[in-house]
Amino acid sequence: MTAQLIDGTAIARKVRDNVKEEVAKRNAAGKPKPGLATVLVGDRVDSAAYVGMKQKACAELGMNSFHNTLPANATQEQVEDLVKKLNADPTVNGILVQLPLPSHLDEERVLQLINIEKDVDGFSPLNIGRLAQKGREPLFVPCTPYGCIYLLKEVGVKISGANAVVLGRSNIVGMPAALLLVQENATVTIVHSRTQNIADVVRRADILIAAIGRTEMVRGDWIKPGAAVIDVGINGVPVLNPDGTPAISEKTGKPKQKLVGDVNFEEAKEVAGFITPVPGGVGPMTIAMLMANTLRAAQIQFP
Ligand code: NDP
Repeated sequence: MTAQLIDGTAIARKVRDNVKEEVAKRNAAGKPKPGLATVLVGDRVDSAAYVGMKQKACAELGMNSFHNTLPANATQEQVEDLVKKLNADPTVNGILVQLPLPSHLDEERVLQLINIEKDVDGFSPLNIGRLAQKGREPLFVPCTPYGCIYLLKEVGVKISGANAVVLGRSNIVGMPAALLLVQENATVTIVHSRTQNIADVVRRADILIAAIGRTEMVRGDWIKPGAAVIDVGINGVPVLNPDGTPAISEKTGKPKQKLVGDVNFEEAKEVAGFITPVPGGVGPMTIAMLMANTLRAAQIQFP
């Protein structure tokens, strides 16, 4: 292996420790505990699990979390009323509406309603708009892309002047990651499903952020020697027995799964200069940055 492994678990732990320390200092100074309100609409198991992890992180770092659930058939008005109520609640510093919302709801209208000072997910059109404009600072940036840039800086990768390629242009990861890289003075190419000759585009990348949700699509010979590779992808693949049959979990009786990224790690680690593993790379950073954003929200609202 030639690449230096970027240990997202350890870096996220450091971010969380810093947040915990700052929260304790605020408590000691008699300031209110930072509070995060989560909104879960419907009964998606993955969304409920993510919200659960966020609440657990709040408890660990000494913050309050307030969980709000609405049924899958909630009306637009019900969701908007809840957001308005949370906007007005002074014990709530950050509001996180777990996405995706059920398809009958207008996600943009909901996100637009969140008070910009409480938009700890960074998805309100105002924060994203500021991110896209020169000289305008967003109050919060989306947690996963923020985590990607944080990892690069933490291991000392020079972003200014670098050729950066972002695979994916979603509102949640790809596009804000590209905007953040531009802010950091990288020269950025965004790759999506209509891009031609993707391998050739990727070969020019000093920095690669892969966020497409395609199992190990990026091969080792796509990577520029010495490049920094940040793999955001989380893809479940079956674990196989030595004879090639699917391995079955003794505990659940179901086929075992493991998580892999959008980059073929085994190949890429022989070429890259830096690389994140999956799991243990970007994943832990997302919640760490949410906690950092929630603390920041409290600092803005109660300096
Ligand atoms: P989306 O499905 O919303 O977006 C995928 C993007 O990749 C789209 O822009 C799409 O292009 C592009 N794309 C898809 N297939 C190809 C292809 N074959 N070639 C080129 N481009 C392609 O995904 P997300 O951004 O939400 O998530 C991406 C990955 O990151 C997923 O694996 C997800 O699980 C993971 N993730 C991880 C997080 C973490 O905390 N680590 C947090 C969030 C996501 P087009 O726009 O043209 O359709």
